[in-house]
Amino acid sequence: MVDTKTQYLKIKKEIDAAIQSVIDSTQFIQGPAVKCFESNVEKYLGAKHAIGCASGTDALQIAMMALDIKPGDEILTTPFTFVATTETIAILGAVPVYVDIDPKSYNMDVSKIEAKITSKTKAIMPVHLYGQPCDMDPIMDIAKKHKLYVIEDAAQAFGAQYNGKMICTIGDIGCISFYPSKNLGAFGDGGMITTNNDTLAEKIRMIISHGSKKKYYHETLGVNSRLDSIQAAILDVKLKYLDKYCQARLDAAMKYNEKFKGIFETPFIMPGVKHIFHQYSIRVKNRDKMMEFLKSQGIPSMIYYPVPLHMQEAYKYYYKPGDYPVSEEIAKDIISLPMHTELTDEQIDFIASKVIEFNSLQ
Ligand SMILES: *Cc1c(COP(=O)(O)O)cnc(C)c1O
Repeated sequence: MVDTKTQYLKIKKEIDAAIQSVIDSTQFIQGPAVKCFESNVEKYLGAKHAIGCASGTDALQIAMMALDIKPGDEILTTPFTFVATTETIAILGAVPVYVDIDPKSYNMDVSKIEAKITSKTKAIMPVHLYGQPCDMDPIMDIAKKHKLYVIEDAAQAFGAQYNGKMICTIGDIGCISFYPSKNLGAFGDGGMITTNNDTLAEKIRMIISHGSKKKYYHETLGVNSRLDSIQAAILDVKLKYLDKYCQARLDAAMKYNEKFKGIFETPFIMPGVKHIFHQYSIRVKNRDKMMEFLKSQGIPSMIYYPVPLHMQEAYKYYYKPGDYPVSEEIAKDIISLPMHTELTDEQIDFIASKVIEFNSLQ
């Protein structure tokens, strides 16, 4: 599905030197490598503040802590995503209230948001799934009208754009994951929180470090969630290549599209967005058999995601099957094909031909 090894080998010297420099400095926690990477992300995004933390999941939790999300508060989000969004809402005692997805973009269907707003609703958490931005203008309008916060889950969309704006800079807070397979991947866990609000930034900086500004004086409830200095040094090297990496994914997606034209419905790209193809996903007949066939040909494939979150064992007490029919339908036949920065034309040809071969027998 990914080829982080080849990607690393192409910039090995730079990465190895960056790692060694942190070791030589022995400044492992909140050292200059973290500051440097944070300031380069601020420049890249045009965001006022970018604050490193330990993972994308922590970024989501810390964002909600900074916004004073309390038990019983309702947060609007999507059931068709990785569990982290729902998990962090539930950890804080808040309630995930799902909005079903748009059948074309697989992102939150903005026309269904307002019907879910109650007096307890505090925030909207749109997830930019597969690297495609959500329709942010209507989301921001609804948030403004109902005085709700917007927390962007940009774990899969760091580098994407919506109407010329960088994803992460549109809502009140943006959350990024540097999980190794993400578009900007570390060599371990890592995450980041972005905001243009000075007060929120100051609070977030305290929360990631046990709620303190001054060591051993704790002003607010905090956690221990800092971006590791070695990861920051690695990420700072890779950030220079991020646009190139996103372009390589987009090129690969266009090549898949070319092969699949007239055979499958190729991934929808919303007008005005820069989609960065964290995943390349299509809907197919006999999906599970297709995956077995592809595997027999040496081709990996994945299902993102097989079970919508409202039907997961851990969260089913909130909802029941049938509550979010679009998500449920898409979970049945979606498949993600290998998608990364190192795909060759030969690999794409081979993968596409095997997908088409299986499909023609159905
Ligand atoms: C990966 C991911 C996360 C969590 O990020 P981690 O760094 O793995 O904690 C959250 N939301 C979405 C949509 C993701 O894809």
